[in-house]
Amino acid sequence: MNDALKKYDVIVVGAGNGGLASAALCAKAGLKTLLLEKHNLPGGCATSFVRGRFEFEAALHELCHSSTSENADSVTKIFERLGADMDLHSEDTLFRVINRGEDPYDLTLHAGVDNFLNDMEAAVPGCRESVKELFDLMAVLDEAQEYMNGPSMNPSVLFNKYGDFMRVAAHSFDEVMDAVGVPEKAQRILETYWAYLGVPTDDMNALHYLSMVLSYIGAYPTMPGHRSHYLSLSLVKALQDHGGEVRFNTEVTRFLYDGDGAAIGVVANGDVIYSKKIISNIIPNNVINRSDPEKIPSHAKKLASARKLGMTFVSVYLGLDASMEELGIKDYSVFIMNGSDPREQFNTRKDGSIYVVNCLNKVLPESSPKGTCTLFFTIPVMPGDFPETVGARDYKKYKNAVAERYIKDYEKVLGVSVMPHIEEIVVATPVTFARYLATPAGAIYGYANEEWDNVVTRAMLEAVDYSIPNLHFCGGSYIRGDGYPSAYLTGAMAADKVISELKEEK
Ligand SMILES: Cc1cc2nc3c(=O)[nH]c(=O)nc-3n(C[C@H](O)[C@H](O)[C@H](O)COP(=O)(O)OP(=O)(O)OC[C@H]3O[C@@H](n4cnc5c(N)ncnc54)[C@H](O)[C@@H]3O)c2cc1C
Repeated sequence: MNDALKKYDVIVVGAGNGGLASAALCAKAGLKTLLLEKHNLPGGCATSFVRGRFEFEAALHELCHSSTSENADSVTKIFERLGADMDLHSEDTLFRVINRGEDPYDLTLHAGVDNFLNDMEAAVPGCRESVKELFDLMAVLDEAQEYMNGPSMNPSVLFNKYGDFMRVAAHSFDEVMDAVGVPEKAQRILETYWAYLGVPTDDMNALHYLSMVLSYIGAYPTMPGHRSHYLSLSLVKALQDHGGEVRFNTEVTRFLYDGDGAAIGVVANGDVIYSKKIISNIIPNNVINRSDPEKIPSHAKKLASARKLGMTFVSVYLGLDASMEELGIKDYSVFIMNGSDPREQFNTRKDGSIYVVNCLNKVLPESSPKGTCTLFFTIPVMPGDFPETVGARDYKKYKNAVAERYIKDYEKVLGVSVMPHIEEIVVATPVTFARYLATPAGAIYGYANEEWDNVVTRAMLEAVDYSIPNLHFCGGSYIRGDGYPSAYLTGAMAADKVISELKEEK
C-alpha cells in the first residue's frame, strides 16, 4: 500500500501505561500519532475509581520509579522527557511481613540500602555480608542489562563480554541466593515481594527479581499524589500537547496487513484507519485473534499458545469511616502469610496462604476525607483459579464471601476492627479485570515469567518472536513482563524503534 494513503505515521492500540508512553513519545518526536482506547478513560490498570466520598487507587501498591542504574531509562526519566508531571510521594518502609507459619516472624523492613541491611541483620544475625554481596551483583549486571536493552544488542557479545551477567541471568533468584550463601531465613524474607512479579522465586529470573527489589530499596517505594489516574492523565496531556490525537470508546476489532504480511492499519468502531506503523499495547493473543490467521507467522501463533498467562488478583477496596490512627492501623504495606516459602504459598494460594493489605493514608494522609481511611487487599490468584461453578447469580455471594474471609483474617492478625467501619466496599475479581482490560482470563501480568520464558530469553529472541513488519508491541505482556516500569519502558522502547525506522525509511 502506498504510504501517501496512510493518514497516520503511527497508531497505538490501547492506552495502558505502555501505550500512553509510546504514543506521547511518538507525538513528541513529531510523528502523526493516533491512540485508540476501548474504555472511556486512559490508563488500563493505571486508574482510579470513585465510590461515595472515596477515590480508590485501582492497582498501584508501589511504583519503582527509578532504575538501579543511573544510565538506564526509568519511569521518572520518561515522564521528564515528556514534560509530564508525576507528583510522587515516597514511603520509608518497604513492607511489614507477618509470617504465621512455622518459625513465625513479624518484621518491618525499611527502604534505603543501609537501613534495609540493618533490618536484615537484626532479623537474621550474620546475614548482612551475603545480602550485601547479592546486592553488589546488581551493579555488575546493570551494564550488561543496559547493553541488552540497547538498539544494537548482539547475543554473542552478551555471551563473551558479560560472562557474569550470563551466569546469573540464566538462574532463578533462589539459585543465585544459594550460590552467594544467603542464610535460609534471610532468603525467605528477601522473597517476600515475589507476588509482585507473579512467579515464585525458585522459577523467577534472578536478574529480574533483584532489579525490582533493589529499585524499591534504593529509590524508596513511591505513590502518585492523586492516584494512578493522575499519571495516566499527565501522559494524555503530553500526547495532546505534542499534537497527538486520542480516541476513547474506540475498540480495535481488526488488525490489517498487506499482501506481504506487513501491518498497515486497523479497524476501530467500524472505521478502517491506515498508518505506517502500529504499536500494540494489547496482549499478542488478542492481536492474533483480531488478525487474518494467514498473516500471522506460525511461530508467533505457537508462542502465544505455549505461553502461560501470568498472575491476576482478587482485590478488595474498603472506604472506612474512621482514620487509620483511630483504627490502630500503622503500616502502609503488610504481607500476611501462612508460611515463608513462596512455592508453598503459590501452591496453597486458594487456602489464603498470602495476601497484601495497603493503607494509602500512611503515604498520602489526605487521600481520603478527614476522619476516614482506605484499605486495599490484594489476593494473588492464577488464571483458572476462579471457580467455574460461580455463575452470574452467585457472583455477588462469591465476592462477599471472599471479602469477608480476608477482612476477618486481617482483623484477627492485626488485632484491629474493620468490619463495623466499612462505608464503601468494592471487590474486583479476574472477571472484573477481564472486562476492563479485555485480557484472557483477566490476566493482569501478561505472560508468566517462567524459567523458559523470562526477561532475558525474551530480550534475546525479540527480533525472532516479533517479526511482523511495521507491528511493534509494548506493555506488561511484552518482553519485560508486568508492572508499571516495564510497561512504560517498553512503551518508550517501541516509540524509539518506530521513530528510528521511520527516519531510516525516509
Ligand atoms: C490490582 C493490581 C495491582 C497491581 N499492582 C502493581 C504495583 O503495585 N506495581 C506495579 O508496578 N504494577 C502493578 N500492577 C501491574 C500493572 O498495573 C500492569 O502490569 C501495567 O499497568 C500494565 O500496563 P499495560 O501497558 O500492559 O496496559 P494495560 O493496563 O493492560 O492496559 C491495556 C489497555 O488497552 C485497552 N485495550 C484492550 N483491548 C483493546 C482494543 N481491542 N482496542 C482498544 N483498546 C484496547 C484496555 O482497555 C486498556 O486500557 C497491578 C495491577 C493490578 C490490576
